[in-house]
Amino acid sequence: MDAKRTWPSLAELFKGDMRDERMERPCVDYGLCEKSRKGEDYHLIRTDCQRVLGNPSTSFSVFAIFDGHNGSAAAIFTKENLLDHVLGSIPSSLGREQWLRALPRALVAGFVKTDMEFQRSGVASGTTVTFVIVDGWTTTVASVGDSRCILDARDGAVSVLTVDHRLEENSEERDRVAASGGQVGRLHIAEGIEFGPLRCWPGGLCLSRSIGDMDVGEFIVPIPHVKQVKLSNVGGRLIIASDGVWDALPSEMAAKYCRGLPAPLAAKEVVKQALRSKGLRDDTTCIVVDIIPPDHSAPLPVAPKKQNILKSLLCWKHSHNSINKLAKNLSAVSTVEELFEEGSAMLSERLGNDSSASKTTAGLFVCAICREDLAPSEGISVHAGSIFSTGSNPWQGPFLCAHCVDKKDAMEGKRPSGVKVA
Ligand SMILES: [Zn+2]
Repeated sequence: MDAKRTWPSLAELFKGDMRDERMERPCVDYGLCEKSRKGEDYHLIRTDCQRVLGNPSTSFSVFAIFDGHNGSAAAIFTKENLLDHVLGSIPSSLGREQWLRALPRALVAGFVKTDMEFQRSGVASGTTVTFVIVDGWTTTVASVGDSRCILDARDGAVSVLTVDHRLEENSEERDRVAASGGQVGRLHIAEGIEFGPLRCWPGGLCLSRSIGDMDVGEFIVPIPHVKQVKLSNVGGRLIIASDGVWDALPSEMAAKYCRGLPAPLAAKEVVKQALRSKGLRDDTTCIVVDIIPPDHSAPLPVAPKKQNILKSLLCWKHSHNSINKLAKNLSAVSTVEELFEEGSAMLSERLGNDSSASKTTAGLFVCAICREDLAPSEGISVHAGSIFSTGSNPWQGPFLCAHCVDKKDAMEGKRPSGVKVA
């Protein structure tokens, strides 16, 4: 399936197939483990969200980790506001399938809005964000920075759903930052002697994307990489963790260490294994989310490592009756369907061509990012002046207010760095 998908119009969205609405929904079980050293890791767990308020059959869950730097203010602000900003960017009238298709664009708008609001507070602090929405069999992950979310499918295949925005690891991002006016290099500790990871100057941040960080160039953008996948009806396990885990454990090892354990024990095991190899050198947070078929509550039925045999045996016994059924299912459907992936830092590419993104259900114009009201003459097309908008018209929506256009220009290096949005 194509990794990239162009945005359908609202009319097409409404025609979306309703099959999923009738499919039996999986159960979601989760566990959290956190070990603090600097007190800058925060998390959000919400299993009670509803797409249509008051209707439990429209429920979905949110799991997120915010790894703050230069203080915890940005992490706390993002934890408290990001979900509302994302949901506020989706028209309330959409059905489930249409809602899921609108999510990637709403995540971009919500991340940028949260960043602009936090920067207005004038506090110099920043945060990574790994934000996961689980709705039925569909999981949507939006991320900036170097926290990570991996998927351990029931067939044992481990895939990473996030992209690492460390300058050291990501050459594409190094090129983007340089093209937008930033300088990428290491710390000079003495004449000719360099030290530590690649950083971006001004500011000296090791990340190319984050929320907050008003003291670095605006080419350090809050625009998330977004990936949406649909699990087959045998389910799977998500492991979301801050870099305290990933600096110590490769993805496959983290998945392997906790296979066979129920989610709460699995989260503890991942953190324990991370600390075993490197000790508590950084805040270390892990959330494990199991997406489980409704007819059984089995943890991943894969041979556990030795020291977990006793614990896992108990789980395995508990789920023994499901295993045969599972084996049959695995041979039939074991693939994970990729629905959407996009990581561009250009708002014109991320917000698409659908003018309805800047219209309310009442037909009024609003800014597609901050949702402020726009008079018909005030809106500026997200495509105006963009060399990347081939095929789009500069008078075509979505539309932005003057402040959000200013932010967009700054992120693309069209305005001198260090001049902040008022
Ligand atoms: Zn705006």
